[in-house]
Amino acid sequence: MAEVYDVIVVGGGPAGYVAAIRAAQLGLKTACVEKWINKEDKPALGGTCLNVGCIPSKALLESTELYETAQHNFSDLGINVGEVTLDVPKMIGRKDKVVQELTGGIAMLFKQNGIDWLQGSGKVLADKQIEVTNHKGKVKIYDTDNVIIATGSVPINLSATPLQEDIVVDSAGALNWEAVPKSVCVIGAGVIGLELGSVWRRMGSEVVLLEAQDTFLPMVDKAVAKEAQKTFAKQGLDIRLNTRVMGSKVVRKKVKVSFQDADGEHEQTFDKLIVAVGRRAFTDDVCAPEANVQQDERGLFHVNDHCETNVPGIYAIGDVVRGPMLAHKGSEEGVMVAELIAGKNSSVNYAVMPNVIYTHPEVAWVGKTEEELKSEGVDYQVGSFPFAASGRAKAKGDTTGMVKVIRDKGDDRLLGAHIIGPSASELLAQSVLAMEFDATIEDIAHTIHAHPTLSEAMHEAALSADGRAIHIANRKRK
Ligand code: FAD
Ligand code: NAD
Repeated sequence: MAEVYDVIVVGGGPAGYVAAIRAAQLGLKTACVEKWINKEDKPALGGTCLNVGCIPSKALLESTELYETAQHNFSDLGINVGEVTLDVPKMIGRKDKVVQELTGGIAMLFKQNGIDWLQGSGKVLADKQIEVTNHKGKVKIYDTDNVIIATGSVPINLSATPLQEDIVVDSAGALNWEAVPKSVCVIGAGVIGLELGSVWRRMGSEVVLLEAQDTFLPMVDKAVAKEAQKTFAKQGLDIRLNTRVMGSKVVRKKVKVSFQDADGEHEQTFDKLIVAVGRRAFTDDVCAPEANVQQDERGLFHVNDHCETNVPGIYAIGDVVRGPMLAHKGSEEGVMVAELIAGKNSSVNYAVMPNVIYTHPEVAWVGKTEEELKSEGVDYQVGSFPFAASGRAKAKGDTTGMVKVIRDKGDDRLLGAHIIGPSASELLAQSVLAMEFDATIEDIAHTIHAHPTLSEAMHEAALSADGRAIHIANRKRK
């Protein structure tokens, strides 16, 4: 007799494990199938995000930012530390420990919530049966009333630049080098390219980013993207737009990269090459054809706003469905689906989705860009405030960037917030909350912000939309 669950989640990343925990909280008998084997050769929960994505990249960004600050900024602050040196294996080891502790924490939460972790690979069969093949190849079938597919995504590979040893790597490989390469080429100046490019540049590598598009960060508000491009170039990231990579060849432990730009074809040799050209949904062989779950030509599962597929009782969440590939987007979908299964009302507000690039300065935004509003014909007004005029940023010695807010000229609602600057990821939260509450710019202008804080820049940006910022000269309003 097959075991019967209320919910089986296939995939234990930030979408799947959160769905499982919420389902268990709501009293549903829940299991989660997860096949990940980590660096230590052990089964692990947490998916891409915890094992090779959000968390390890942020651990290395933190270490390397402090390294750079100690090297270049401590003396300005009146601190003399002598020669600052790197211990890369220790840095990588710390990153691995952070990952181990957090993934172990999810396993603990599963136990506390009574969730069965079915270790191995899951496949959705007809009639919502789930086939689980464990790591020794043993197959078992489970019955469930509801299935949540959360099998995530994997890096896109380019056939012209095949991965090779630890020389041509994807984002996961670029988290593990134990010595600083002299030169690193990154294909793709997107989010991963900029974050991991920053990690290795800070450690001393010469970093070149080859980007096919002619626009830098096209999804980011233009004024913020322009400031970011200028700032990253000043830091030493060599970002080459409109550049098409033709191929790569590993010769004597180095990699020769051939590419084409407006000046013609070129070849350049690097110590390492990172391929960071996007990710694709990982949906290969997740559903048997008899399960009849519809997918599009890119493999994404077709879902409605409630993440329901075409088959009643089968849901799909996270990177395997439409929308941005972000951990928090998947987690919120997981919560929503678990609540819907438990008979509650639930939804995800896709219009208010925070985005962050964790470089220094950080780039963070929510809502519409000025360009989007212009093309939609919305009557809007912009307010902005530079960190150079913020007392706290000045005291920190970290004044690059600005806060830009956009309001609806008619009803004064906040339509978007775009930040480049220190702690932009944390500062963004108040705009996200404001938009969630349908707040107006006047609401933000009325809110008392502690002095001196970086968040005062948001307050001043809101005031500036009305031409009444205190610490900058206001532009004349029409
Ligand atoms: P995943 O995290 O990919 O998890 C899917 C899980 O399903 C995996 O564990 C996989 O082993 C398992 N699985 C797949 N098939 C099966 C099967 N058949 N049976 C059993 N298990 C299966 N996002 C952010 O929001 N913030 C960031 O800072 C950020 N940084 C990133 C940095 C890097 C370097 C990378 C690569 C990504 C980053 N992301 C970030 C993106 C984020 O990691 C993903 O959007 C997120 O992990 C998606 O969650 P998910 O649960 O849908 O899928
Ligand atoms: P991305 O889409 O952000 O960037 C990929 C870049 O590669 C694009 O600019 C694209 O134009 C370029 N490109 C594609 N093919 C190319 C080619 N042949 N030659 C040169 N350039 C090429 O993707 P990513 O950086 O790989 O990140 C993948 C996903 O992971 C993103 O969708 C993102 O949502 C997520 N992620 C998020 C964070 C974060 O939230 N901080 C961090 C890392 C990753």
